[in-house]
Amino acid sequence: MKIIMLGAPGAGKGTQAKQIAGKYSIPHISTGDIFRANIKNGTELGKKAKEYMDQGLLVPDELTCDLVVDRIGQDDCKNGFVLDGFPRTIPQAEALTDALNKLGEKMDYAIDVDVPDENIVKRMSGRRACLDCGATYHVVSIPPKKEGICDACGSKLVLRDDDKPETVQKRLDVYHEQTQPLIDYYKEAGILKSVDGTQPMEDVFAEIVKILG
Ligand code: AMP
Repeated sequence: MKIIMLGAPGAGKGTQAKQIAGKYSIPHISTGDIFRANIKNGTELGKKAKEYMDQGLLVPDELTCDLVVDRIGQDDCKNGFVLDGFPRTIPQAEALTDALNKLGEKMDYAIDVDVPDENIVKRMSGRRACLDCGATYHVVSIPPKKEGICDACGSKLVLRDDDKPETVQKRLDVYHEQTQPLIDYYKEAGILKSVDGTQPMEDVFAEIVKILG
């Protein structure tokens, strides 16, 4: 099963993507996580990506597309994968469609987790992330067992630079301008499904499971 998660930053698509990956035993591929891992390891890609990420801008397509095309070609993706944060632009979607076409394959579902902007800004300021293992929490809706500490690896939780209020607004503008057109792209492809992302997390997941079967 090959799934794309769509939705504004902070709509909860990462949380849902992880659960889908667990339930259907497919890899969770988050371009944001890949870039953050590169930043942490001080790679050239990380250095370039950070300049854009810190400003709430998208990393250029030429640094992003090949990375994902290579990743989905790996052995663990044979039975499918769930993409979280990719594609984010029409050229990225086209690169993905072309890469899969060459293999005689196509995406099965694009799931849009729909949340209005005003909810997003509130949510993001409460988000906390572990920069070591990539786990994410929310001070109200998904608190860690011990405040400020990652349940999974024990590292300190932080408010990511790109989750700070001034950057969130910029990311939302970028989302509407560059990523929202993908909703029509996948509607035309006949694989778009929308879920109401304002519901409690478990209800959003139940809705997704109903779609995926
Ligand atoms: P995320 O964790 O998915 O919210 O991504 C964090 C940041 O990484 C974004 O604000 C972008 O700067 C960058 N990023 C992640 N995925 C992409 C992508 N597919 N295309 C361009 N930039 C991306």
